[in-house]
Amino acid sequence: MSEQDFFDEGELVGVLTTQPLDRVLDYKAPEGGCWLGAFVEVPLGPRKVLGVVWGKGRGDWDISKVRAVIRALDVAPMREEMRLFIEKSAQYTLTSLPAMLRLATRAPGLSDPPSMRKVYRLGAGEPDRQTDARKRVIETLHEYGGLSFTLKELSELAGVTSSVVKGLVKQGVVAEEEAPRDLPYPKMDPEYGRKELTDDQEAASARLREGISSGTYGTTLLRGVTGSGKTEVYLEAVAECLRQGRQALVLLPEIALTAEFLTRVEARFGTKPAEWHSGVTMTERRRIWKMVGQGGVEVVIGARSALFLPYQNLGLVVVDEEHDTSYKQDDGVLYNARDMAVLRSSICGARVILASATPSLESWANADAGKYERLELTSRFGPAVMPDMQAIDMRAEDLPGSRWISPSMQAAVRSRIEKGEQSLLFINRRGYAPVTICRACGHQVGCDHCDARMVEHRFLKRLLCHQCGESKPMPEACPSCEVEGKLAPVGPGVERLAEEAQELFPDARMAVLSSDLFGSARALKEGITAIADGGADIIIGTQLVAKGHNFPLLTLVGVIDADLGLQGSDLRAAERTFQLMRQVAGRAGRSERKGQALLQTFQPEHPVIRAILAGDEEAFWKAEAGERRHAGVPPYGRMAGIILSSTDVQEVFDLGNALARNDGALREIGAQVFGPAPAPIARVRGRHRVRLLVKADKAAPLQAAVARWVGQYKLKGDMRLAVDIDPQSFY
Ligand code: ADP
Ligand code: ZN
Repeated sequence: MSEQDFFDEGELVGVLTTQPLDRVLDYKAPEGGCWLGAFVEVPLGPRKVLGVVWGKGRGDWDISKVRAVIRALDVAPMREEMRLFIEKSAQYTLTSLPAMLRLATRAPGLSDPPSMRKVYRLGAGEPDRQTDARKRVIETLHEYGGLSFTLKELSELAGVTSSVVKGLVKQGVVAEEEAPRDLPYPKMDPEYGRKELTDDQEAASARLREGISSGTYGTTLLRGVTGSGKTEVYLEAVAECLRQGRQALVLLPEIALTAEFLTRVEARFGTKPAEWHSGVTMTERRRIWKMVGQGGVEVVIGARSALFLPYQNLGLVVVDEEHDTSYKQDDGVLYNARDMAVLRSSICGARVILASATPSLESWANADAGKYERLELTSRFGPAVMPDMQAIDMRAEDLPGSRWISPSMQAAVRSRIEKGEQSLLFINRRGYAPVTICRACGHQVGCDHCDARMVEHRFLKRLLCHQCGESKPMPEACPSCEVEGKLAPVGPGVERLAEEAQELFPDARMAVLSSDLFGSARALKEGITAIADGGADIIIGTQLVAKGHNFPLLTLVGVIDADLGLQGSDLRAAERTFQLMRQVAGRAGRSERKGQALLQTFQPEHPVIRAILAGDEEAFWKAEAGERRHAGVPPYGRMAGIILSSTDVQEVFDLGNALARNDGALREIGAQVFGPAPAPIARVRGRHRVRLLVKADKAAPLQAAVARWVGQYKLKGDMRLAVDIDPQSFY
């Protein structure tokens, strides 16, 4: 930072706060001055709030009324590159700057003043007299070797009050010391645990390493079938990043995958990386946040919000499974982490690696247009090859309406059991049955707060709304006609499929893998490891199994309903089905044994099903790209979704209609508006939802026009308006 980035005491500075205000506020720099980008505490009305020095003050405020910054916090100032990222991502997603800043400061205790704390470890002294409580403290400290603890940790571990520990400190039995509150993470060794790469892995890795060494921005689409070694290859890019002294971020789509991945990183670099997601403790979050800013972390593995950490020297962002829909945040600030990774890296001169077996059409098109480099890993690592894929034409199978495992599928599973191999039956629906119907009156049990139907979860003995999370016990009587004992499940979910499989194969060992059946990421990891080690003959799973897990004994994948994803109005339905089916099929035969994938379908001639079976990815992408280009939809056109919601159904439609009529700002850029229409789920948590969709040319300045358009109206009452740029789901 240069001298002109420093503000002397009393100089006017503009501070962006995390409060929902629409401007940067003027303050006087505090005693001792402050840097541009400094995190500060400022008075706002009667409160103290967190902010960042965003620039010079505007000076358009009565100078005698301008208050002083209370103090600059003891954390690294926000770098210019990060301020730019916040500004640009706010512009792109039409989000306010304060909301963006909140995303970038999601760590507790940032304004806690002292960065030292007292810690306790075993001292040299002997106690004057021994009590049970004292003994427990000493034993605890012995048990944990040379570790030191905070007073709270130690007294809790030993099960004593803090005064017992304090007493031992007086006698020198326990030593009290000052230690930094947040410690750096251990250094990683880029040469540790290196693997011999195959020729095409080495070629890809060399290109990626070159990119890192160039020190400039660039995005690479790393494509390769599941098991081809994409992870091994991008870990080499991470290694190069470490050698250059820069930080690397690896984004993963599912928290459930991080445990397995952490172990892999540790095996490669000798120590675990920092882990950032909703399951991480508050203390750990603060430590990561601070250490990232001062270079005390080299590699972060995280969920999408890890993009908003204050990296000191970011050199690489890997987006693993880049096509995964969970990269799109669908609550609060609506951003796509994959796109924001590219934005952030282009600002700070970092590399991006988008890794996938089945890229999104967006990334495929960017590579096709030469904006991204494209690297391919064509073969699976080791002797494994892609499985044989075949359709089971359900029209020809003899199957009663309440059964889903066709005779052909049964035969295939049976032959695997006989050979001691594993089968996976895949259905992308959680719970027991998606619909519960009353056989007396035909009523379908719905959620009281949404227009969604309740899903029976037999395992939990409850009905659950997958939309809002509402749950209630399974009723005895129909809520509508009150007749008892007539409620019946309709359609299969993963739990019901497990029941059917158990009846068909009573001696087989079953394992059900569904995200809601495991209490924690750790429990899930243990479950997965046990299955991988051969702890089950048949695995019944939802889309959770499609992602990244390795089951060496698995040689058959049976897709129960390949048609499920093809229905619906989502423009990405075909793409999603294609990706999911390819991924699931990729689970079979990952080690020495060749696998087989069977797809149950009522429409074997459907182009998507045919492309999956033929394994002809380029043909699929080209056909899909052609259709989207023709329709002018993403990635060949732009879209924005507007969701209005209110408890008052009339007001929400009135505003929707007013927006649709007064669309001058959109017409100026040649954009069209569709709607208002009730959102596919028209009521969520008691709020009525109406949706408008804006379509524009690829080059049109969409955000500015949408901002002017919706800016015409002030929102009254409890009305909410959310803009979703590049909407992914149409809900
Ligand atoms: P992908 O990320 O493409 O699914 P992975 O990198 O996970 O593939 O590789 C699949 C499996 O093969 C992993 O268990 C990995 O450790 C192993 N593997 C891949 N390449 C190599 C290699 N060059 N040497 C040793 N093991 C490898
Ligand atoms: Zn609900």
